[in-house]
Amino acid sequence: MDTRAEPGYAANWTTEGTSGEKTVTEAEWPNCTDPTPLLEFLRTSGGTSDRKLRLFAVACCRRIWHLLVAEEHHRYWHKDELEYWRRCQEAVVLAERFADGEATKRQLAAVTAYLRPAFYDPRFTVELSFSAAAVATEAARFATELPLNAEGVATEAAVAAALEAGTHAFPSQRVLAAKKKSHCDLLRDIFGNPFHPVTISPTVLAWKDELVVRLAQAAYEERHLPAGTLDNGRLAALADALEEAGCTDADILGHLRGPGPHVRGCWPVDLCLGKTKGTNMAVWLEWVEKGKVFPLVRGQPVVIGRRHYADIDTYADLDTDMLVVSRRHCEVHWDGCRVWVHDLNSRYGTYINCNHFGDGVHVVEPEGCLLRLGDILRPGPVRFLLATSCRIEPPWLSWHDGLLVSMARQMYDSRDFSDIPVLADALEEAGCANQDILSHCRSGGEHVRGCWLLDLLMGKS
Ligand SMILES: [Zn+2]
Ligand SMILES: [Zn+2]
Repeated sequence: MDTRAEPGYAANWTTEGTSGEKTVTEAEWPNCTDPTPLLEFLRTSGGTSDRKLRLFAVACCRRIWHLLVAEEHHRYWHKDELEYWRRCQEAVVLAERFADGEATKRQLAAVTAYLRPAFYDPRFTVELSFSAAAVATEAARFATELPLNAEGVATEAAVAAALEAGTHAFPSQRVLAAKKKSHCDLLRDIFGNPFHPVTISPTVLAWKDELVVRLAQAAYEERHLPAGTLDNGRLAALADALEEAGCTDADILGHLRGPGPHVRGCWPVDLCLGKTKGTNMAVWLEWVEKGKVFPLVRGQPVVIGRRHYADIDTYADLDTDMLVVSRRHCEVHWDGCRVWVHDLNSRYGTYINCNHFGDGVHVVEPEGCLLRLGDILRPGPVRFLLATSCRIEPPWLSWHDGLLVSMARQMYDSRDFSDIPVLADALEEAGCANQDILSHCRSGGEHVRGCWLLDLLMGKS
């Protein structure tokens, strides 16, 4: 996970907006028309990467490429100042190359340093204020900055396009909404569906001397410029090759044969190129009554409670006596390996897996209590399930007379987790290609009792 939410970030995502939450559900993901909640969800779930975010920002800028070259700019600028417009295009290309490690931070900084003062030049602000070109160049400049504000780039690009389409100084809301929707399509092309992580088996990738990898590479390189879209014919050929190699995943094949638009970062192409290392969204909290999913951010506790006192606000949707849930009721921690809950001196206590208050585990210890996959966390009358998208397939369990399970059990009993990387090799040999599972084993982090993966293998959930 190389992109983190900023400290205090999670405190905002449940308390703003009309619905009370800004996170998206699995049902909302495919149809959402505003990039903001999608980006927030990706960020807080750790299901993103700097590279993909930057490719998304670049794709938004390429949509307004023509605004960075418009001939009418010439009347505002002297010949030597036309350099500015050329640099805006260069900024987008550079940001794109940086995403794939082909440009340096120093190069990015240089182009940003050039563009920033020009934007505040009085001639620019007077002549071009509220013009599509001015906003477009700002998007181009944003795209080069570190750290990247992908949402800012997308917003500027949407406004620029809407301004161009309108006759007034302010963009029409209808056009703006359409641009935002098209940015959501770009996001979904790049990130896929984080609720359904998909992988491609190594045997498919190795087939015919890595034919699919070469086809994917060609599609990535030989694209339509300056729009930056991948060629649909090449992607269809990639789908055919994948299918012949044994890939049967309908999501992958359907996406590659779909109309797109596809851009650099397109998720099945990235899978073929080995540029995606799982979604990192191994486990999450699911609000049972509402079906809403709340991502857990590694190292950043999430408070369940009421109103703005908490990250997860149970107040808005609760029918029963909401005072049963304290303002700051309990705190859920996730360190990438296990989840634990700690009660924040709530009035009525926090319970795990009980139907009635008084039975089950009552969490009061200040150090907290493990929450394992399949457990139900009950701060008052609301229920949160600890869920995962990872599945253990029966053939893996029967592989070598249940070797995987006995390895997991032995580590659990001995509390010696140093062999977890070996477990990854064994899992892979047994047929596992799930990147969340494999990368957790190979992450090199500390593992402890309550490790979600060992629990999953031992069937504890
Ligand atoms: Zn695509
Ligand atoms: Zn672990």
